[in-house]
Amino acid sequence: MRLELSPADLAFRQEARALIAEAFSGAETYDGGPAHEARWHAALARRGWEVSKWPEAFGGPGWSATQHFIWERETTAAGLPAQVGGMGMGMLAPILFAYGAPEQQARFLPDIRANRVRWCQGYSEPEAGSDLAALRTTARQEGDDYIIDGEKIWTSGAHHADWMFCLTRTGQGSRKQEGITFLLVDLRSPGIQIHPIISLDGRHGFNRVTFDSVRAPVANRVGREGEGWTVAKGLLTHERTGQAYVSLSLSLLSRLREAAAEIPGSQGRRLIDDPGFAARLSLAAIELEALAMTELRTLSQVEAGEAPGAQSSLLKLKGTDIVQRMTEFFVECAGPYAAPWFPDLADHPGQVGPTWAQPEVVRYLEGRAASIAGGSDEIQRNIIAKHVLKL
Ligand SMILES: Cc1cc2nc3c(=O)[nH]c(=O)nc-3n(C[C@H](O)[C@H](O)[C@H](O)COP(=O)(O)OP(=O)(O)OC[C@H]3O[C@@H](n4cnc5c(N)ncnc54)[C@H](O)[C@@H]3O)c2cc1C
Repeated sequence: MRLELSPADLAFRQEARALIAEAFSGAETYDGGPAHEARWHAALARRGWEVSKWPEAFGGPGWSATQHFIWERETTAAGLPAQVGGMGMGMLAPILFAYGAPEQQARFLPDIRANRVRWCQGYSEPEAGSDLAALRTTARQEGDDYIIDGEKIWTSGAHHADWMFCLTRTGQGSRKQEGITFLLVDLRSPGIQIHPIISLDGRHGFNRVTFDSVRAPVANRVGREGEGWTVAKGLLTHERTGQAYVSLSLSLLSRLREAAAEIPGSQGRRLIDDPGFAARLSLAAIELEALAMTELRTLSQVEAGEAPGAQSSLLKLKGTDIVQRMTEFFVECAGPYAAPWFPDLADHPGQVGPTWAQPEVVRYLEGRAASIAGGSDEIQRNIIAKHVLKL
């Protein structure tokens, strides 16, 4: 395996760095707000890089796996998202490429590309999380519409979204995976209510979404009626491949090394020189290198036209483990300076300790959610046991 970058890849890296510097030059850092997101999207769109992961047939730039790898590294190091457009861009678009009718592709893809419409994912229900196929939200056809009744939960970002892609029950088969239908629902439709759920870190990211006789046109069904499970599974593998967090962990690791060099450890040593701490950090760094290689291998398969498949569970499981360990190291480094409620203390004039330490408890708590979101660790292990190890 060749590990060094070719001249063409080095030139691509230069181009990526130039674009990043052009969009966010000087001391200004990306804050994730709408103005910065729009500026970043516009900079990407000028080169056609806002759809960097889309196939060329749908207007993507046709990057190689190595180019994706470089782009992830460079954007993460600069504190920028590798792509904008949320769940529409990363999750729904690949489904529309594979299962969408040409009219659906023509109707929905341009808005996703232009980041004009926000999507959320309506899969989970109160009694159907890990056991997703137990979902009970019904859709019954009446003329040209489906009428939807039921409830979705843990719907991230529904309060900012315009549309939801969701799973509904249209029938009962001999297996519960049968009779599920994938629908696209306009969240402004009458009968939809969005109820906020506040999470452990004090933020509003989740929602419960209720449907009371909500109409969605039959034309918004992706795939055939009753065959939504196949569509749903395809989407999950794309979601999980995106959850290896390699670039994030690499950037956390580099920040962590700087932080641990500032903090005193035991016996008058710096924390970074403490043999116990250094050994645990090195182990995580080695596992991260191995994960980066696995991710690259998976990206190469996707590039060659294969779906990521059950291997994406492996990436998600290990990626989550490593990113969580990074957040634990930070809390260990920050000690009493890690303030639990960052939003309240961000600009507190009397704060003590290094600035980097303040959000670490919130990051640690956020990090816990990663082993549940997109399917829990236990479920990923079950998938690996069955489909990768054939147990
Ligand atoms: C940050 C975050 C964002 C999310 N965003 C969305 C979203 O946008 N849209 C959406 O639809 N959902 C979303 N979810 C929901 C997520 O998909 C579910 O929480 C997840 O699938 C687990 O389901 P559950 O919460 O019902 O837990 P349960 O399924 O009730 O699981 C409870 C526990 O039992 C274990 N368990 C269950 N079954 C098995 C089994 N067969 N073998 C071994 N152990 C088992 C689980 O691992 C877990 O530890 C999000 C969740 C999080 C944390």
